[in-house]
Amino acid sequence: MNHELAGKAVGILKDLVAFEVLGGQSNLSILDYIIAFLNDHNVEYHLVPNQDLTKASLHCRIGPAVDGGLILSGHTDVVPVSGQDWKSDPFLLTEKDGLLYGRGSCDMKGFLACCLASVEILQASPLKRPVYFAFSYDEEIGCLAGTALATAIRSYYTEKPEFAIIGEPSMMQPITGQKGICVLQTTVTGSAGHSSRIRQEVSAIHVAARLITWLEDKMDRMIADGHIDDRFFPPHSSMHVGKVSGGIAPNVIADKCTFFWDVRIIPADDVYSILGEFNTYCQDLEAELKLRFDGASIVTSEDHPPVPPLGTNSDSDIVPLIQKISGHHVLGTVSYAAEAGQFAEQGFKTVICGPGDIAQAHRANEYISISQMDECLQMIGRLAAEFSH
Ligand SMILES: [Zn+2]
Repeated sequence: MNHELAGKAVGILKDLVAFEVLGGQSNLSILDYIIAFLNDHNVEYHLVPNQDLTKASLHCRIGPAVDGGLILSGHTDVVPVSGQDWKSDPFLLTEKDGLLYGRGSCDMKGFLACCLASVEILQASPLKRPVYFAFSYDEEIGCLAGTALATAIRSYYTEKPEFAIIGEPSMMQPITGQKGICVLQTTVTGSAGHSSRIRQEVSAIHVAARLITWLEDKMDRMIADGHIDDRFFPPHSSMHVGKVSGGIAPNVIADKCTFFWDVRIIPADDVYSILGEFNTYCQDLEAELKLRFDGASIVTSEDHPPVPPLGTNSDSDIVPLIQKISGHHVLGTVSYAAEAGQFAEQGFKTVICGPGDIAQAHRANEYISISQMDECLQMIGRLAAEFSH
């Protein structure tokens, strides 16, 4: 272990953890810290702000403006700590037995700290291809900034970056597959009445039940049609309803029913085609219900735009590169959502590979080990060496 470098990364991580920037909140405080760090090292950076300028992503390049570079990407926001039983101050990085405790230490400020700690090494290397940093916000509430950031990088630089590593916690294992996700809510409006009038009124609950059953049947039909990707478990796109609310009493027909659901999609499937088929079914059903009650309706809305899946093929050029620099050869898949698919959508050959265990993320006493930080620093060091010849 390079103790000086590791110490530097841990020091930066301590600074980063102290910024209590939750998903959804302004990230300008932590961004100012990163900007000051880059200014100190004479790295020119560019911001991709949100509409009301309360948040921004940042990207920068170290090395020559030539094609074939690699983007190191992470998010600056973290999940809340409320209701969690922390044994130390979650926003004060605390070391114990080689483990660094703090909110975001693992997901994913540890990776950001490794990137920043490596700036001098990257600058001192005779890079023939550039390395970029891409730091986003609001990842934890639906990957809201990833697409704009990846698009901005694609359009800002005259040269073409070729690769992207999303440093989400993977214990430094290269991850080439990730399911996409779309979160939705469907509201059925029917007509209230005495439960004996089931033939004259429209029960919103009964309609919702049909829609929910349709979703499950659709999932089964896709499986039967061979929509299978064995890299994942379950090896297919899944539809799941996690919350239903509606109705007031057993003898009253419900005039409203809302259910919340998600689609977790394998790379080969198209979320828009599933949603399109669902909407067609809803429209047909709505037309039928309106014959009985003119005010009947079925309305579905998305929580946020769908997060695309990642499906990097094993013959992609990034595979031998990430295997070489990470030192890990077995490729994996993950079921959590991340910005990887958004970078892949912009044409970058993308993998997830970062320090720490996802099992530590989002929970009380989140930690990252110093040895994982060291592995990540070594990866960036090997990247610098690889790009220098
Ligand atoms: Zn994360």
